[in-house]
Amino acid sequence: MAFTLEDLPIRDDLRGQSPYGAPQKHVRVQLNVNENTHPVPAEVAEDIVESVRQALATVNRYPDREFTELRRSLTDYLNGGLDGAALLTPEQLWAANGSNEVLQQLLQAFGGPGRSVLGFPPTYSMHSILAAGTGTRWIPAERDAEFGISPATVTAAIAEHQPDIVFLCGPNNPTGTPLPLETIVAAYDATDGIVMVDEAYAEFMPDDAPSALTLLPGRERLVVSRTMSKAFAFAGARVGYLAAHPAVIDAVRLVRLPYHLSALTQAAAVAALRHAPAMLAMVDDIKQQRDRMVTELRAMGYRTYETWSNFVLFGGVADPHAAFEALLGQDVIVRDLGIPNHLRVSAGTAEETTAFLEAMRRVSAAQPPVRVEA
Ligand SMILES: *Cc1c(COP(=O)(O)O)cnc(C)c1O
Repeated sequence: MAFTLEDLPIRDDLRGQSPYGAPQKHVRVQLNVNENTHPVPAEVAEDIVESVRQALATVNRYPDREFTELRRSLTDYLNGGLDGAALLTPEQLWAANGSNEVLQQLLQAFGGPGRSVLGFPPTYSMHSILAAGTGTRWIPAERDAEFGISPATVTAAIAEHQPDIVFLCGPNNPTGTPLPLETIVAAYDATDGIVMVDEAYAEFMPDDAPSALTLLPGRERLVVSRTMSKAFAFAGARVGYLAAHPAVIDAVRLVRLPYHLSALTQAAAVAALRHAPAMLAMVDDIKQQRDRMVTELRAMGYRTYETWSNFVLFGGVADPHAAFEALLGQDVIVRDLGIPNHLRVSAGTAEETTAFLEAMRRVSAAQPPVRVEA
């Protein structure tokens, strides 16, 4: 018998768990992990390379543990979107290797054994995986119809479960559902714990939709996480961040690894943020491709939902696994999340979106859409 991890003296609470597992396949049209499918513009890439080259001159030294320049850059970037209202300061910013690490640090500081985190599936699968990894009990609560969370729903779930942390995701992955500010305020008022809003897709929201960042003044236990992995086309660089009261940042400092953010990452991120408008130039185009997917999937007879992100969850797929494989056979990869009769697809370039829609037309001819309740 082959030796497996089950034969090791692994923590009991990790036995039988599965790692995060979006398949990494080399496929022509990759629409499965909500990346920005547009590459970094060449002139921006050159500036990033130059900044990394300069950082290499002192890479024999440990990096700035407080990534001061990056925090200043992130502050400027966020303040640019806040219309002068409730401006942030660098003391309120914190970054790590992807927002996943930011969320892990939050759970290390505010969760852990004997503590719990409330979430609302279907939501980002890493939220419960990070809870498991930090020994924090994951409490799943029900959403409303169409995947929404009303103020009454969030308040009732908090009253019932008394969690130490509440994880909200707006717009929600994998459904795209907007998260009303009233729901965040209701959650905050209903708990003495931490309320964390994952805004990984904030840049894809309608231009006039306010961010949870506008709620930070006067709310010391509210945390808003963001990432450069999606709209910013920087997934491979691994940069995520949060904004909160400076006391929250002090708490995170107790659990972070020293020098967790490499000098090369810091240099690359600061350079990319210098070119924020160019890095975000494709966002409007991506939103158009997303809306095109919604319109055409509906015309084919699939069920779609309101989405404020760069992806579309669609229902009515008779056999999601067979449909996933049929798309893969046409060099298109989407996401099968195990939601019955549903698949998720990320908006791509115009050409990728066309390739997906043409492949889907063939799939729907082979397995006609079915009715789904939601
Ligand atoms: C993609 C995604 C992230 C991003 O994680 P990174 O570690 O920053 O790449 C975070 N939250 C949600 C909801 C996501 O979908």
